[in-house]
Amino acid sequence: MGSPCLKTVGAPSLEELRNSPAFPKSEDFMKGPIAVIECIEEIPCNPCETSCRKGAIVIGDPITNLPRIDFEKCIGCGICVAACPGLAIYIKDYTYSDEEARISFPYEYLPLPQKGDVVQLIGRTGEMVCSGTVIGMQNSRQNDRTTIVTVAYPKNFFDEVISMKRIKNKS
Ligand code: SF4
Ligand code: SF4
Repeated sequence: MGSPCLKTVGAPSLEELRNSPAFPKSEDFMKGPIAVIECIEEIPCNPCETSCRKGAIVIGDPITNLPRIDFEKCIGCGICVAACPGLAIYIKDYTYSDEEARISFPYEYLPLPQKGDVVQLIGRTGEMVCSGTVIGMQNSRQNDRTTIVTVAYPKNFFDEVISMKRIKNKS
């Protein structure tokens, strides 16, 4: 078995993502909050493109093109995060503070975390990476029923974190 990648473990490696057209370069992460798209399979899908009011995401024709992002246009608003049916987009902000970065990701489970909760953050294969503190929850009507959770976490785990571990029901 080769090194963990989309083919072997069903989740893209960081190397595969860095070779994909949408993945930000290090300098893009220095600009503030931006969208990160982890979508590297050529599927007929484009809600990310049509939802972005800034025209920052381009798929074009054919619809199976991989998405691209213009980071000069992306303002990190997060509209595309809830629009993606594949839960393949999150917002990351390396500039949040000296010690911490920030991530906003879609979370479609109950119970929801609460602001101030310390949660367990996970990587692309569901592995535990570190803990972080919930600093925001967004559940607007335009997001349908997808909640966007924002968590602050240590910068040295910046690349690895993509979501949080599901909270168990108390019963
Ligand atoms: S975060 Fe906002 S501006 Fe950036 S790509 Fe998504 S919808 Fe567009
Ligand atoms: S909406 Fe999501 S799954 Fe569909 S092309 Fe865009 S990033 Fe990929």
